[in-house]
Amino acid sequence: MAKRKPLVAGNWKMNGLKASAGELKKIVAAASRTPKPACDLLICPPASLLIPFSSLVKGSALKLGGQDCHAKASGAHTGDISAEMLKDAGAKAVIVGHSERRHDHGETDAAVRAKAQAAWRAGLIAIICVGESEAERDARKTATVVKRQVSGSIPDGATSANTVIAYEPVWAIGTGRTPTVEEVNAVHAAIRGLLNRRFGPEGEKMRILYGGSVKPDNAATLLTLPDVDGALVGGASLKAIDFLGITRVYGNKLKS
Ligand code: PEP
Repeated sequence: MAKRKPLVAGNWKMNGLKASAGELKKIVAAASRTPKPACDLLICPPASLLIPFSSLVKGSALKLGGQDCHAKASGAHTGDISAEMLKDAGAKAVIVGHSERRHDHGETDAAVRAKAQAAWRAGLIAIICVGESEAERDARKTATVVKRQVSGSIPDGATSANTVIAYEPVWAIGTGRTPTVEEVNAVHAAIRGLLNRRFGPEGEKMRILYGGSVKPDNAATLLTLPDVDGALVGGASLKAIDFLGITRVYGNKLKS
């Protein structure tokens, strides 16, 4: 089995002002006391904060990411941001296909695939999100939906260096509810099988994160499962103490 370094990624969503730098600084300070953290660390703040935050993370193990990007590099797309702009502002990665984007902006698998390709074009890691809605879960369609999203959203050419998958059941996001260990195991193993069949040994090396109401008190249960290679964290990433608490399941002594 390939050894995959876990990634704990925080998604601040539409939260945070320049004054929120204090929380980021606490994570940077904790990371700088730990020269080689046992997991990779990423915070995806609103795009407005990438430039001020990039000077704060300089030289630290904490990296920054964007929350979405347009498929094109530039052009007449009012209000959008390109992967190249995120890179220019200090991002190393970008989340694409988050369920809030799929739902609020009608993003299809094809659109998500184009965004992932844009991320690669700019030299960013694409964190590609998939996950079933509550209605799909109730209709026992989780496996079908996730398979369709994984096949349709991940472009050919994905490697463990340019792509991370995040399994985020929509009904678990921001609700405090989480799937059972058996459910997480089953979906992650199914995704791993799809990646292996399509990408061979690279598929085995690709990280699959779990996301949906991860908190310090359930991290040990959810994040140490065989095919769970870290977490995409929403609400709990806004507070350094919670974010660092989650990273501690990987043996870090990161203290806030
Ligand atoms: C998310 O939106 O990616 C997420 C996982 O949110 P939360 O941790 O708040 O459920």
